[in-house]
Amino acid sequence: MSVQDKLIRPSRVITMDDIIREGQPTLRERAKDVSLPIQDEDIILGEKMLQFLKNSQDPATAEKMGLRGGVGLAAPQLNISKRIIAVLIPNPEDEDGNPPAESYSLQEVMYNPKIVAHSVQEATLADGEGCLSVDREVPGYVIRHARVTVDYYNKNGEKQRIKLKGYRAIVVQHEIDHTNGIMFYDRINEAEPFAVKEGLLIIE
Ligand SMILES: [Zn+2]
Repeated sequence: MSVQDKLIRPSRVITMDDIIREGQPTLRERAKDVSLPIQDEDIILGEKMLQFLKNSQDPATAEKMGLRGGVGLAAPQLNISKRIIAVLIPNPEDEDGNPPAESYSLQEVMYNPKIVAHSVQEATLADGEGCLSVDREVPGYVIRHARVTVDYYNKNGEKQRIKLKGYRAIVVQHEIDHTNGIMFYDRINEAEPFAVKEGLLIIE
């Protein structure tokens, strides 16, 4: 039985034990396209991935299940070499600590996501990046495109196009990288991890 067959069983919930860590070869492979129309097994996998992110962001559930908080997950991180990513980016609370009207600024499972256009300007998160498949801190600016246009299929097999900037653009690029065998630290300048080229947008 394949890893995916096991993960998509009805009562099965994704945990940290299902996430492979750096050094595992699948994380360095170019993943395969998902076939269209999207198969049930891929739809269910996508839902489980999104549920994992929800669980990881809920303090009580995360504590109980021992989950690290995450805003994105890619199928290769589950040792499934397919071009599927899930992203779940929460909106912040307002100044008074009330929950936002919309819980998430981006909540999507993307099949065969592809960057079809990007800005010349580059951007980085001020605090660097982390990854559920990397159990160590890797400090440095991860240099990415400041703005991207991404084409993908949703679970209904409908082609979507989304334009992203800021934090959302960073997260989606990190996850698409996983489908291409790229780790975030590949994009850190090794000699000078906090080097700032002219025009670099630093996102706080
Ligand atoms: Zn990652």
